[in-house]
Amino acid sequence: MLIIGGGWGGLAAAKELRSSAPQLEVTLIERQESFWSHPISNRWLVGLADTTLLRHSYEAAARSTGYRFVRAEVGAIDRSRHTVSTSDGEFAYDWLIIAAGIREDFSAWFGVDRNSIDFCRKNHASAFSDATQHVALKERLHRFSGGALVMTIPPMPYRCPPAPYERAGLIAWWMKSKQIKGRLIVLDPNPAVMSFDRIFRDSYRDQVTYMPQAKVKSVDPFKKQIVTDFDTVDFTDAILMPPQQAADILWQNALVGQGSNWAAVDPVNLNILGDEQVYIVGDAIDKVSQLFGHYPKTGQLAARLGRIAARQIAARASGLATEKQLPESTCYVLSRAEPMELARINTSFRFRGDGLIQQTVRQTYDAQARDEDLAWASNMFNELGF
Ligand SMILES: Cc1cc2nc3c(=O)[nH]c(=O)nc-3n(C[C@H](O)[C@H](O)[C@H](O)COP(=O)(O)OP(=O)(O)OC[C@H]3O[C@@H](n4cnc5c(N)ncnc54)[C@H](O)[C@@H]3O)c2cc1C
Repeated sequence: MLIIGGGWGGLAAAKELRSSAPQLEVTLIERQESFWSHPISNRWLVGLADTTLLRHSYEAAARSTGYRFVRAEVGAIDRSRHTVSTSDGEFAYDWLIIAAGIREDFSAWFGVDRNSIDFCRKNHASAFSDATQHVALKERLHRFSGGALVMTIPPMPYRCPPAPYERAGLIAWWMKSKQIKGRLIVLDPNPAVMSFDRIFRDSYRDQVTYMPQAKVKSVDPFKKQIVTDFDTVDFTDAILMPPQQAADILWQNALVGQGSNWAAVDPVNLNILGDEQVYIVGDAIDKVSQLFGHYPKTGQLAARLGRIAARQIAARASGLATEKQLPESTCYVLSRAEPMELARINTSFRFRGDGLIQQTVRQTYDAQARDEDLAWASNMFNELGF
């Protein structure tokens, strides 16, 4: 049993497999040395959380949960031979879960201009797909001493929709408390998010310019200039988030749906259509319902999908009938740092009478928050085996 990707989906699947299918030998293949959490990273960026909360050891999780961890980059998946090629040799599988996350599509702005793409990845990384970018982003932010800091938000669908706004609010708070004479300009191609628009106006009028429905038309990273449908914006520094799509490995292995940027799976069983031995979970998957489109691309949801795929495999490996299960997600968003205010977004799903998956979203605000987001994160890390 192989798992590609040691993020939220892959780790949850590995842990679940040890308990629901103890007869299977599980190997998790991940290219990074250690796990680094995106959730809580916005807090950490402005000094409101410690690194020890975010970074965890894969080796330790594998040892305590009872699976094998291999640090390697996975390339080709041969579904006829049931093998995957990696930088550490070839691995055979009887069951395979791919939980490889997303990639950022800079070609939407730059076409095949590698020079600009590489320059942006190196100098203006968002740390939204690749968790190893967080440290460089923090160093860059803490060097920022004034001028225009531009942040572009990706068009929907993208990973953790409230996260860019949470990040913007926290950077604004940080600039205000450090008395940095700069301005954060948020270019958002999506409709205005009213709750954050209000916070930016009420609390950070001198720090934030929020521009909703501002689609990026072109970026010149060398001239430090972004052109939107209506404006030209010059920047001192920028956090650039281009459109997102399924991870590289899914493109390399022709697992992306036709006419889509996301991986095609059976929306309930999560296996590749026509192949019950290969599963895809997490942020990479395509729309699951005509009623709402994509599952929210959150860590908890990815972990629940990992668990569901693991249970499907456990049942099929024992010749048992599979059960139809649906995920759920809770997401905490720090909408204000001082006084601390948290939004809690609960998303649940049910099968409607006609079999379509239906989504219910409930959002509540806590104006007297007491670090409930940190408590959620530590429960989740426990579920991931840390
Ligand atoms: C700033 C930010 C804040 C967020 N806050 C929250 C939050 O508060 N709550 C929440 O629920 N979610 C949050 N999220 C979303 C959450 O991080 C993602 O939904 C989650 O990481 C998705 O899990 P995944 O397993 O699909 O992908 P990932 O966690 O990205 O894992 C994919 C893994 O696969 C590995 N990989 C990819 N390709 C290969 C390959 N070829 N070979 C080997 N390894 C490979 C990668 O290195 C990576 O470790 C946030 C995201 C961001 C960016």
